[in-house]
Amino acid sequence: MQIINDPAQMQKTAESLRLRHQLIAVVMTMGALHEGHLGLLKIAREKAGTVILTIFVNPRQFGPDEDFHRYPRPFEKDAAMAKAAGVDYLFAPDADSMYSEGFQTQVNTGDVANRFEGEKRPGHFNGMATVVLKLLMISKAHIAIFGEKDAQQLAVIKRMVRDFNIGTRIIEIPIVRNEDGLATSSRNIYLSSQERQQATVLYQGILRARELVAQGMIETEKILEEVTAVIRSAPDATIDYTGIVDADSFAETDILHPNTLYRLLLAVWIGSTRLIDNGILEPLEQNTVPDA
Ligand code: AMP
Repeated sequence: MQIINDPAQMQKTAESLRLRHQLIAVVMTMGALHEGHLGLLKIAREKAGTVILTIFVNPRQFGPDEDFHRYPRPFEKDAAMAKAAGVDYLFAPDADSMYSEGFQTQVNTGDVANRFEGEKRPGHFNGMATVVLKLLMISKAHIAIFGEKDAQQLAVIKRMVRDFNIGTRIIEIPIVRNEDGLATSSRNIYLSSQERQQATVLYQGILRARELVAQGMIETEKILEEVTAVIRSAPDATIDYTGIVDADSFAETDILHPNTLYRLLLAVWIGSTRLIDNGILEPLEQNTVPDA
């Protein structure tokens, strides 16, 4: 595995791989690798001859009061995990090389980025989309693998790839969870052991919503009320938002229609740690009432 820090060198390397007809897959992360990231790398390894892993804690997608400075950066451990996962190139630039003097052009994301994470974290999606676009240009990847864990991020990226005719194939993989249902996340290390136990309420909320939908409940307000009650059962949980959206368009809906996939979205503070999670909701086929 080769470690590259310089964007120009990474881009030159990618170009020579392309000239040698290598299929390139990229996995973009902020490091502090865990099972979720390894799941993305496994698919990358299966799909392409060359795997590029990027590790970059992107300052432009963090708000002023967010955890940019304390975000974990265990680089040596990450590099060892990347090597074991079969990564060919580990691209780990610093912020100065990614945003050199005079940098001023940004991706301006649209409607899909306005609600939920976008509303709670102003500027987050523009910063995220900008760095994803840069990493796609630098890695020259044919395929990019993302996790459904960040479902709105994925929707924003898919929209950008279509809108800008980028041509990279986007592959999404399901959420990797711990045994008790908590989605693996670099931020889970912030949780105390008590908070870690309470953090399972996000997944329990998703399971409760699925149960209600399986029983035929279709009013999203009622489903969200029940999910809220489950989450509030944890004493240190504070809900940032809950929502149910069309899984493709991310549009909100009052009623679940049959033959449509929806996504329950959750952002919850457990103490001072903000966690996000989501899950697909699949309404029952409508009962067809025979004509009298
Ligand atoms: P991050 O390092 O948190 O920015 O995440 C990098 C990529 O890994 C994104 O595509 C995430 O959606 C994905 N990812 C993070 N956690 C998980 C998880 N638990 N399951 C699946 N994918 C994940």
